[in-house]
Amino acid sequence: VDDSAVTTRTTYDIVVVGAGTAGLTAAIEAAESGARVLLLEKLQEAGGTLPVTSGKLWHSDPLRDEIHGADPRIVGMVSQDFDAALDWLRERGIRMEIGARGFFFIQPDPVEGALMPLLRRFEDAGGKLMLGTAVDSLIRSPEGDVCGVRLRSSAIEISAKAVIIATGGFQLDPELVTRYIAPWESMFARANRGTTGDGFRMATAVGVGTTAGLASFYGHLSPPPPARIEPSIYRRTQAIFVPHVVLLNLAGKRFVDESRPQVVAAEALAKQECGLGVLIFDSAVHQEYVTQVNPLPEDSRDALVLWRKIGARIEEADTLDSLLEKLYDMGLAVGAAKRTLQEYDAAAVEGSDRDLSVQRRKNLHRCFKPPFYAVPVHSDITFTEGGLRVDESCQALDVDGAPVPGLYVVGEAAGLVSNASQAGGLATGLVTGLRAARHSMRRVQARIER
Ligand SMILES: Cc1cc2nc3c(=O)[nH]c(=O)nc-3n(C[C@H](O)[C@H](O)[C@H](O)COP(=O)(O)OP(=O)(O)OC[C@H]3O[C@@H](n4cnc5c(N)ncnc54)[C@H](O)[C@@H]3O)c2cc1C
Repeated sequence: VDDSAVTTRTTYDIVVVGAGTAGLTAAIEAAESGARVLLLEKLQEAGGTLPVTSGKLWHSDPLRDEIHGADPRIVGMVSQDFDAALDWLRERGIRMEIGARGFFFIQPDPVEGALMPLLRRFEDAGGKLMLGTAVDSLIRSPEGDVCGVRLRSSAIEISAKAVIIATGGFQLDPELVTRYIAPWESMFARANRGTTGDGFRMATAVGVGTTAGLASFYGHLSPPPPARIEPSIYRRTQAIFVPHVVLLNLAGKRFVDESRPQVVAAEALAKQECGLGVLIFDSAVHQEYVTQVNPLPEDSRDALVLWRKIGARIEEADTLDSLLEKLYDMGLAVGAAKRTLQEYDAAAVEGSDRDLSVQRRKNLHRCFKPPFYAVPVHSDITFTEGGLRVDESCQALDVDGAPVPGLYVVGEAAGLVSNASQAGGLATGLVTGLRAARHSMRRVQARIER
């Protein structure tokens, strides 16, 4: 799309920055409500992370999960609006089927089933989408309202009555990840390449506050280099069997209850030395859990087969001692690791984690049947959970908690909405996008009436 179509005098009612799920939802809702909407996307394609997902929508009771200092009203938004958000999608022709555990899956896939129809919907409602157009910064009026954006590649400024930031998280910004989470080199980001914290930077530059929990993220464990994980296999390389194995750090100790949701292990591993850990299991666990829980194509059914294919290091031995010795070169404290596994196996025999220093509430499987396996892992971030501070209308809040007039933040960019896996990023994007659009429309209408 041609940048020159926009001049410094260009004015829209609402500018939405980022055309992922959250931005597209906000843009459609505002355009259908009669606003002149400009949707700006820095990549050459729209959709953000949506195309690499399995299109699964869910939420759960936020009170059941850990809340890293989140505001219960904010973290409760998704559960509260989830059904209405699905209705909003259905009314726009998006089909969903209920699958395992009551999750909703977009049909036939996220691109054909959601992205394409939503883009058409936006166009039909008179919205304008500009691809390959990165926003650089926000413009504030002398009164302190946010009243427009500056583009990155040119001196172009676009005025608006409201700006909605929908730029995703900061998982691909090495500086922000290192500052808030863990050294960049020790992690992997399984995310769309546009999520480089631009919204975080531009909003904090105009005084928007940040939430607690900036170190928290939704993520998994995956094999570190030399393994190579291309976007096309993102969904197939998650170690979904982690709740059934033993996870050691380089000191040879367990440090997390592996039986909890994998996101808990991923956050805990990021804080360990070098961010590195080793998954240990025996052939019984391999047969029962590593091979069979994965309902994916044949080469992914046994996670070890796929991981070997992508270059992951996988060690195998007939005794636990010789297995652990093979890991000496990666810095594993072999003696401590042996003691940890002996203690763990004794607890498994007893069927109780009473004597373990780190709890293991479920899946206390024995580790005794050869061959034994060891797989080095590190954490991968799917998206950052801490972020910009918002209220229940998704208005940006300044460091004192007062709304920044004219500025909204939605989706992953909004901090602690989706928290500790209580809601997926897609549901979060839908719910926050709708809330922001509806609230910003009041501002647009008030300006029109004035
Ligand atoms: C492999 C994988 C599978 C997943 N599966 C699921 C799933 O099944 N269900 C689920 O709920 N969640 C899933 N997620 C998470 C979910 O996809 C994301 O949380 C969600 O899509 C984020 O939506 P968003 O709109 O907030 O951000 P994004 O989709 O990341 O969109 C942000 C957009 O903003 C653009 N942008 C950034 N900066 C600028 C700028 N300066 N100017 C203009 N544009 C900019 C980016 O290029 C990007 O297109 C998955 C994630 C991954 C990586």
